[in-house]
Amino acid sequence: MNVRDSEATEAMLTAAGHTRAVTEAEADLVIVNSCSVRGKAEDKAIGKLGLLCATKRERPNRIVGLMGCMAQRLGSNIFKKVPRLDFSVGTRRCGAIPRMVSRIIAGESHITEISSPDEIPDVPDAHLEQGFSAFVTILLGCNRRCTYCIVPDVRGPEFSRPAREIIAEISTLAHHGIKEITLLGQSVMNYGMANRAWLDDDPASAHGFTEPFSRLLEAVAAIPEIIRIRFTSGHPSGCTNELVRAVSLFPKICHHLHLPVQSGSDAILAAMRRGYARADYLDAVRRLRAVMPDFALTTDVIVGFPGETTEDFEETRRLMNQADFDNAFIFKYSPRPGTPAASLKDDVAMYEKMRRNQLLLADQDIRGEAANQRLVGSLQEVLVEGPSLRNATRWAGRSPGNKIVVFTPVAGILPGTLVNVRITRVAPQTLYGEVLQKNG
Ligand code: SAH
Ligand code: SF4
Repeated sequence: MNVRDSEATEAMLTAAGHTRAVTEAEADLVIVNSCSVRGKAEDKAIGKLGLLCATKRERPNRIVGLMGCMAQRLGSNIFKKVPRLDFSVGTRRCGAIPRMVSRIIAGESHITEISSPDEIPDVPDAHLEQGFSAFVTILLGCNRRCTYCIVPDVRGPEFSRPAREIIAEISTLAHHGIKEITLLGQSVMNYGMANRAWLDDDPASAHGFTEPFSRLLEAVAAIPEIIRIRFTSGHPSGCTNELVRAVSLFPKICHHLHLPVQSGSDAILAAMRRGYARADYLDAVRRLRAVMPDFALTTDVIVGFPGETTEDFEETRRLMNQADFDNAFIFKYSPRPGTPAASLKDDVAMYEKMRRNQLLLADQDIRGEAANQRLVGSLQEVLVEGPSLRNATRWAGRSPGNKIVVFTPVAGILPGTLVNVRITRVAPQTLYGEVLQKNG
């Protein structure tokens, strides 16, 4: 989400006449895009802002700004922590950045733009011209309120962009050579649930879809130049029969989902207020893989949530094996101000959080390698990116499961097309193979 907001900001600033600096050191304007999900992320942003503002002693005209979740959370209080900061802009107001930069250049100082939860957000549709893949935000904010999470406070309530706006943005990207779209939202399958996202003259679904997210997938799949569609993040409640049908029906939709589980213990899932039990999660996995056996899953897990016992933790380990994740991001629980869980005792010691973190990572290494091994001999459809960064005589791209695939280029293969690659060997993070045929 932040990568997309940064890209939109750079594209808007470029359109306003600014040019990208080659290095940070030479930049006259630096904006830090911040994350509030864990305390450490905020500490890093504050540290970075301090260093940047210190350079203003030699360069008084240098402009330093803050955007993103921490800007939204702290409002004008940020100037108490970072007195030399020039401006700060909240999550739903990135569209205001070029104007704010002009105001600073004109001599104003310490300006903030923070959104209120009930306003219609200003979602910039500007993109940079780069590569073949683009992120498109379809759903802002979150209505779930998991007890540990600050996102609903800093990114506001759910707001679904109108489908026509999304389709127009993707069509423009397609005309500029984009082949792969990743639709973004915190609980992306909630698209269109909380506010009306479709207009009265909605096109009827040719496949009888009634859920807004499946209908949107159908509309994106109908854009001919787009050859791949991804979406993130998932929630098990969104894995409806209709969604499973949509994903399996359109070959453009990758068989991969980032489906954060957070914990495998029912007691902890309830305390987190995730809205599902382990059986519901595993049922969603089973239904996806029953129709698409090759379906790749990645996840997020929090270790050391208040009250997490070793038995709860072992349940998480077991669930991760059952779900057979391709990759997992493990986070140590971090109490966030104002969230319901912050009033619980953070009773799992740091060394124990670290131990649990390490164990899950070690398990995942073994599982990820086994999953890769099973792909030896398989045919993977790869979206070609171009010469590999490590070795320009080899080319690279990504599989539908989002794994990097390295192969020997053959005549006629172009970046931005799909090729079939027969996998011959694997490393923990990479698949290697030979091109079988050109197919798109
Ligand atoms: N909307 C997504 C997650 C967004 S936050 C979802 O519901 O799955 C990204 C990840 O950060 C979460 O999946 C969670 O694993 C982690 N996270 C969020 N709050 C956290 C906290 N207080 N401490 C540690 N990790 C946290
Ligand atoms: Fe946070 Fe839960 Fe919303 Fe994800 S679903 S953003 S974890 S409140």
